[in-house]
Amino acid sequence: MKNRKLLMIPGPIEFEPSVLRILGAPTTSHVAANFIKSFGHCIKMMRDVWISPKGQPFIVAGSGTLAMDMAACNLVEPGDKVLVISTGYFGDRYATILERYGAEVTVLEAPFGKTICTETIDKTLEDGDFKILTFTHVDTSTGILVAPKAIGALGKKHRVLTILDGVCSVAGEEILQDAWNIDVVLTASQKAIGVPPGLALLMVSEKAMQVFKTRKTPVLNYYGDFANWLPIMKAYENETPSYFGTPPVNLIMALEESLKLIVAEGMEQRFARHQQIASAFREAMQCIGLTIFPNSNDIAANTLTAVYYPKNISAGDFLGAVKESDIILAGGLLASHKTEYFRVGHMGIVNQSDIIATIAGIEKALKKCGHSFNLGDGLSKALAILSEQG
Ligand code: PMP
Repeated sequence: MKNRKLLMIPGPIEFEPSVLRILGAPTTSHVAANFIKSFGHCIKMMRDVWISPKGQPFIVAGSGTLAMDMAACNLVEPGDKVLVISTGYFGDRYATILERYGAEVTVLEAPFGKTICTETIDKTLEDGDFKILTFTHVDTSTGILVAPKAIGALGKKHRVLTILDGVCSVAGEEILQDAWNIDVVLTASQKAIGVPPGLALLMVSEKAMQVFKTRKTPVLNYYGDFANWLPIMKAYENETPSYFGTPPVNLIMALEESLKLIVAEGMEQRFARHQQIASAFREAMQCIGLTIFPNSNDIAANTLTAVYYPKNISAGDFLGAVKESDIILAGGLLASHKTEYFRVGHMGIVNQSDIIATIAGIEKALKKCGHSFNLGDGLSKALAILSEQG
């Protein structure tokens, strides 16, 4: 028996052995030639993954919340009006962060299972004097996907900076940052980027850097201040070392390996793989009588799926039964509906075998819990989709 479980939660995900091996390698100096090269390479490759040839990358030790915090503290000045599009837990968190820096926050809260329509966002921006708009590309608590292209266009129309929380989307969902006029696309290492937790990653547009540079008030966060990190990013990109805070050497070298793999796969190919696997999983769940959290497949994420438990089956019984197949899934996250649904991550290096094994584990667990359906129906639906498109 293999002494490992299949980790199918929406982050941290499973990582490539070649990425993991780098974490166990002897740590070199942060000014050693091999590290300087590696750091510079990461900065350059981020522009390919974000599809942002003009963007300014930032790689900083911390989690996704630090990336959110950095975008907020560097672009917000006290009294600025910010519009938050919230499709779940992480949208609400963004409102709290922004308020901490003195922003006057308006939240457009999506109803359960839905997004906010473009017309409502357009009207709200028309009526208010907003400086910034934030949105969660994929809210990990609900599996709801928001369309960034339309929001980027609204940002341009209303001259509002757009910040995309891409912690659960970058390198999994399609994003063309520059072409779509998104000013900040931020993420963390542990999801589709494919590196264990510990790195906050941001790509900032020329326009947003200009807004930062012309601030009238000091940045209210010392560690996160772009002014501290910009010279470091520029130095390493030019293959010279520089110091502000000790960089997480092994994590950055592991990031280089993962970004190389992502770039080698190709972004279009990668987005298509995520879409295919997500569609096979969603349809399999619907085929065995389960309901997914987003109201329609058009707004369902390709990086994770949130699924309601059938009536009369409890979270503990179901997740425990899935674990017997050595598959780890996540429970609900949204406080009000926490016990009603589970979440399955399918991003990064996830492949067809992983998703097939996961569907099989879910079917087996549902049978054990007494759900009535034909064993194997979900699997054959998924196999049909994977064979059609694969
Ligand atoms: N935003 C989203 C959409 C997330 O999924 C998460 C983490 N699950 C975060 C922000 C926060 O990231 P972290 O936990 O790495 O701080």
